[in-house]
Amino acid sequence: MSTPSLDFDPSTVPLPQGHFIGGAYHSTNEPQIAVYRPSDGQLLGYVPDASASTVDYAVSNALHAWKTSSWATQSPRERARVLTRWAELIERNKVSLAQLETVSSTRPVAEAYSFDVPFTADAIRFFAELADKLGGDVAATRRDSLGFVTAEPYGVIGAIAPWNFPLSTCSWKCGPALAAGNAVVLKPSEMTPFSTLRLAELAIEAGMPPGIFNVVNGHGATTGAAITRHPDVSKVSFTGSTRTGAAIMSDAALHGTKPVTLELGGKSPQLVFERLTNLEHTARCIARGFTTNGGQVCVAGTRLIVHKRIAEPLLDAVQRLLTPIAPGPLWHSTTRYSPLISRGQAKRIDSLIEESRASGAEVIFGGGYFEDTGDGCFHRPTLLANVTEATPAVREELFGPVLTVQTFEDEEEGIALAGHPTYGLCAGVHTSDIGQALRAMRRIAAGTIWINRYGRSGDMIIPTGGFKQSGIGKDLGRQALEASMRHKSVLIDF
Ligand code: NAD
Repeated sequence: MSTPSLDFDPSTVPLPQGHFIGGAYHSTNEPQIAVYRPSDGQLLGYVPDASASTVDYAVSNALHAWKTSSWATQSPRERARVLTRWAELIERNKVSLAQLETVSSTRPVAEAYSFDVPFTADAIRFFAELADKLGGDVAATRRDSLGFVTAEPYGVIGAIAPWNFPLSTCSWKCGPALAAGNAVVLKPSEMTPFSTLRLAELAIEAGMPPGIFNVVNGHGATTGAAITRHPDVSKVSFTGSTRTGAAIMSDAALHGTKPVTLELGGKSPQLVFERLTNLEHTARCIARGFTTNGGQVCVAGTRLIVHKRIAEPLLDAVQRLLTPIAPGPLWHSTTRYSPLISRGQAKRIDSLIEESRASGAEVIFGGGYFEDTGDGCFHRPTLLANVTEATPAVREELFGPVLTVQTFEDEEEGIALAGHPTYGLCAGVHTSDIGQALRAMRRIAAGTIWINRYGRSGDMIIPTGGFKQSGIGKDLGRQALEASMRHKSVLIDF
């Protein structure tokens, strides 16, 4: 459905400048990183590339604020008041935040407005409301002895974010860390820095003490690594690729044995059994599952594993849904399909598709790019058949709108194909047989299983996080808040 009033002129959107440290914009004469509009490849603006000394300045500000303000020592309810005001301000600035997200990322304005911004506010509010409700263990270890467990914030948490959902990822990383009483130094992706900076501004307007939430811009291998390695950063919360997650884990181990939360890549299956309640609904789950945000979603369902007898009608229905998908400027409210983030990302997808074809895969729908989109790379939704577990597009995360198709003949074979040697982020299971769904749920090694649906819809209490090389720990849920605190055991004799 179109929302015409959301159309806007991208050249009119003001861009934040600099880093955000100690409650204010901080400009430096560091080298600048050029940021492009993914929608049409035009140069959007610049952000400074933080050196290790700027990271040190941000961490010192954060530590100072954490030690001297009342943020860590006040009650969770008092912190919740500030976080709730922050969420309200995010909602009040919904249009300008959606526009900023749209010009500087792959998010269409209609989705940024109806999903990303409200979800960001809701996640912050969720952690604000949860923070005073966590209990702990208390035990009478002997008649004259009592033990209990109490939770404390870490101090400064380093957060490192990817480019695919800049606003909402920021709220997933910072919501629990701040609600638990920590200070945060966050590095957004160098490709999508602007909306996160604006969130930091709004946090100050909400009454957060200056220095509690800081944003530094820069490249991963330098700025990002300086955050992980900083001696006063006590924990690192990362979302991004498996390869970077491994580098961060190794850095965190070598520089203070710090704990990490890692939300990493995926290659998630959509397992479709023969008996379905509603084939059209399943087809919608499959089509949306790999095309949302141009396929650039960690939880994208990119491997269709379908029972042989239902493959043809299901693929027909999926293709009917894919056919009308069209590109468009992200600032038009009718646009729903996203471009790839960059030419570099396009090259990677192209070469994985080529390698897959060389190993026998066949493009049965789509392939290549939509034309007449300027310098924007809108990859066509693409189906690849004749694949095996060894095909590159089955083995590796492409991070684009490409679905591989494999068929099976019995439950055992389907469940076996759904497993992946490397990843275990999530899986979709579609069947009208609840016993079959639960057998598959038990046996697929993945952090989230969706049964007869695919994707999140604001269920904040249900966490997300991967098995295997898809990650360590959880975002959202009670688990994310608990992981933002360290637990101290107290034993008293009396
Ligand atoms: P990326 O790993 O390339 O970069 C992520 C962030 O890490 C960026 O800010 C980058 O600058 C930084 N970085 C890079 N090298 C670093 C280093 N050595 N030390 C510290 N920081 C470093 O990922 P991306 O391309 O921005 O995002 C796409 C990836 O993110 C995909 O693999 C996707 O599956 C994953 N992702 C996972 C989730 C999840 O919840 N599991 C959510 C969104 C995205």
